[in-house]
Amino acid sequence: MNRIRNAPEPEEGFWLPFTAMRAFHDAPVLFERAEGMHYITPEGQRVLDMMAGLWCVNAGHAHPRVTAAIREAAGKLDFVSSFRMSHPGAFTFARRLLDAVPMMGRVFFSNSGSEAVDTALKIARAYHRARGDAGRTKFIGRAKSYHGVGFGGLSVGGIARHKRDFGPLLADVFHMPLPHDPAQRFLTARPVQDARWMAALEDILLVQDPSTVAAIIVEPVTGSGGVYPPPIGYLEGLRAICDRHGILLIFDEVITGFGRLGACTAAEALGVTPDIMTMAKGLTNGAVPMGATLVTPPVFEAFMAHPRGAPEFMHGYTYSAHPLACAAGLATLDAYQQEGMFEASARIAAPFRAALLALRDAPHVVDVRCCGLLGAVDLAPRAEAPGARGAAVADHCLAAGVLVRAAGDMMVLSPPLVVSEAQVEETVAALRRALAAVE
Ligand code: PMP
Repeated sequence: MNRIRNAPEPEEGFWLPFTAMRAFHDAPVLFERAEGMHYITPEGQRVLDMMAGLWCVNAGHAHPRVTAAIREAAGKLDFVSSFRMSHPGAFTFARRLLDAVPMMGRVFFSNSGSEAVDTALKIARAYHRARGDAGRTKFIGRAKSYHGVGFGGLSVGGIARHKRDFGPLLADVFHMPLPHDPAQRFLTARPVQDARWMAALEDILLVQDPSTVAAIIVEPVTGSGGVYPPPIGYLEGLRAICDRHGILLIFDEVITGFGRLGACTAAEALGVTPDIMTMAKGLTNGAVPMGATLVTPPVFEAFMAHPRGAPEFMHGYTYSAHPLACAAGLATLDAYQQEGMFEASARIAAPFRAALLALRDAPHVVDVRCCGLLGAVDLAPRAEAPGARGAAVADHCLAAGVLVRAAGDMMVLSPPLVVSEAQVEETVAALRRALAAVE
């Protein structure tokens, strides 16, 4: 069903991101429509979307509120320059977003997670400079983190193969280890804090001099790198170290934002407040590209200490706060809040975890990790072909009408928040059949 006849030749023009073009040409996967929990192929076959697109369609596909809002907005205002002018919808959406994330005080809009991250890094450096502390320029990221593909996000990110082909990245970036003990497998709750993780950070600070560090950036729950929940106390530990040294703490909530952990943000769900927060994906339910970088009131106030007249922050994008994106974002928030989707996510998290953990006795499965509505099932790699088993399982599931993602030999799940228990069971059954069928 996923082999499309008369597939377009890759030579015809479209260079797909993150995709082996020649392999895609041999077995293209195309979806033509989507509604609710499903994609629909050109042949009319329905595929259960257990990835929410790419961690983004949290309210389900083509949500009627979002679709209607985009239609209306498109007929009203196509574009306004982001230099010295704006439109009312941008202010309305910013206010509503901050009401949903009350620990933050201002929001800067962009068009993607990558842009939101690079904006966050620039805010961090400019914040210190505005306070007369221009020597704070270093960043600390973490192994296995994904922060997008801009040179800033790539530099602080911790996935080596993403960096391989691109030469020198940002200087003065250091990486903490992933707070994960591979000996702990099939955990049924968040792991407990281990003194090793904070000690590793303290070691970096000892060598680098904390008064030269601008910010520490982490995903509260490592997403693309493998769904690693933070040990209990870990984020609190980062917060305390940042406070002690005047370092800003950035949470990249591009994946964890909007209900993945049963609250609007991971910061809210886990009870730790960063100084800067990035969002994208679920911000507009994936329907219009948009990123957002939120800051606490003190971070914003530091910029307002600049003399009046010149722009306080010389940064932005042509499409920052685009009218269509603001309309989509507002309608998405309405959907999440008025339809109780964060609560639905919180309710389904335990059955989701139990269903995935039940795969521990299936062939090839070596670990299962869950955090809210994020799940990863690690498979043992085939010695001669790492990644092949994961890809084969994903192909089997797709042929059976279930979309899960293979990141190497790790199967990743991130369904829309409206997923039902029956759909979770259907997915686990498809995975079980696929695991039994692959080499
Ligand atoms: N940060 C995180 C945590 C992400 O998961 C992603 C995308 N997967 C990004 C940043 C980059 O977002 P985008 O692809 O929209 O640039």
